[in-house]
Amino acid sequence: KGDVHDIGKNIVAVVLQCNNFEVIDLGVMVPTAKILEKAKEVNADLIGLSGLITPSLDEMVNVAAEMQRLGFKTPLLIGGATTSKAHTAVKIAPVYEGPVVYVTDASRSVGVASALMSAQQRPAFLESLDGEYTQVRARQAGRRPNQRWHDFDALKALPAPLTAAPAPSPHQFGVQVLAPYPLEDLVDYIDWTPFFMTWELAGKFPAILTDEVVGEAATQLFADAKAMLKRIVEERWVEARAIFGFWPAARSGRDDVTLYGDEDRREALATLHFLRQQTIKPDGSANLSLADYVAPEGDWVGGFAVTAGLGAQARLDAFEADHDDYQSILFKALMDRLAEALAERLHERVRTEFWGYAPQEALAKEALIQEAYRGIRPAPGYPACPDHTEKAKLFALLGAESQGLSLTESFAMAPAASVSGWYFAHPEARYFGVGKIQRDQVMDYAARKGWTLEEAEQWLAPNLGYDPHSRDVA
Ligand code: SAH
Repeated sequence: KGDVHDIGKNIVAVVLQCNNFEVIDLGVMVPTAKILEKAKEVNADLIGLSGLITPSLDEMVNVAAEMQRLGFKTPLLIGGATTSKAHTAVKIAPVYEGPVVYVTDASRSVGVASALMSAQQRPAFLESLDGEYTQVRARQAGRRPNQRWHDFDALKALPAPLTAAPAPSPHQFGVQVLAPYPLEDLVDYIDWTPFFMTWELAGKFPAILTDEVVGEAATQLFADAKAMLKRIVEERWVEARAIFGFWPAARSGRDDVTLYGDEDRREALATLHFLRQQTIKPDGSANLSLADYVAPEGDWVGGFAVTAGLGAQARLDAFEADHDDYQSILFKALMDRLAEALAERLHERVRTEFWGYAPQEALAKEALIQEAYRGIRPAPGYPACPDHTEKAKLFALLGAESQGLSLTESFAMAPAASVSGWYFAHPEARYFGVGKIQRDQVMDYAARKGWTLEEAEQWLAPNLGYDPHSRDVA
């Protein structure tokens, strides 16, 4: 029921099918009951779950707990972007007595599935897995006491870590839509390295094309990708859209930013809530929050949502009808690339044109990929602003739904080939990770969000530096 990015899951299915496994793909956003009913009905040998964004991690724990409750013994395989061996060992495996196996990537799925299906290999495989997970759990448990935390109240009382540098007013104020965004303008902005990562080919583009090990496969894949990309652009297989806006803003309190509908900053539109790094850093450097980039006396903040996935369904259905997994995966991977390219191109135009705080900027593509420009576009759900629910504010401010973008109940974007984020222009703005935080900050955040502590702990689960189930005061 959590969110899955189709591509990885599709690759797992293809790889397993090529190795004589029968795969029943239930799709995405499937409720626990449906997964388990189907598994019973077909007497599945293995059940696999894939997760894209952090809320799906919790959902996997629910599925495992439900399997335990219903007396399942079927092995449960865990994979996907936000999953990890640590999460599997610490959170999922303990709630289910059957085997729970974290599968690092699609290429490992055959080895794991085969070992689990083999009467000879299975006992030794499970025993070594058990040992590994016990070690992971011990390591996790041992780590906590070493980490030292700032008391959140003390942290809030410190002077702001950065000098305020209010951004100039944007050239255009309010929300704008660029739709359809011309696809041909995006091709040169594609960052190809992540494209190869999608296919589990490791290496930087373009060096990967001549790599000793994967060079040949990468070159063939790249040729196919370029051929399809040409058709996507020329035959308009998809429509791309960009929605963005700039709002008068001011930091309010320590870690909030209020956005206004007027330049006198009287009519508040929304308050964005951010989290602050809370571990004591060995080098004594400041504990950051994205709110630090916004001047309390008046500043500007922007937001954007882009997609390159509209109108793709008919073509995807056709590939599926042809059982052409390769073309289908290739197409999805290229839509993702175009969406990222649009985010990059739009950000560039924001800096030079629409907001215009860097009119002289002229960077080569490599420099863009390396983010050598002034300003950042942090995405809600990513390490500097890990709360996915803030995306709802961004979408509401932009009116993104009217352009065909929407959020699922766990705040993933649809179409999948979409990117969104905030714009900050502070010259020292950098991406950072909030990391683990303590209960005092979670309580403060819950109060700001209008959540109960439990709700906050659920949404911020990956960032909790304490065990929410032990109620003793840390
Ligand atoms: N060239 C890459 C760009 C995407 S990844 C591609 O084509 O795939 C980089 C993006 O992830 C950033 O622009 C930002 O939106 C987001 N991001 C990265 N690190 C982040 C962090 N620590 N906090 C918030 N957002 C982050």
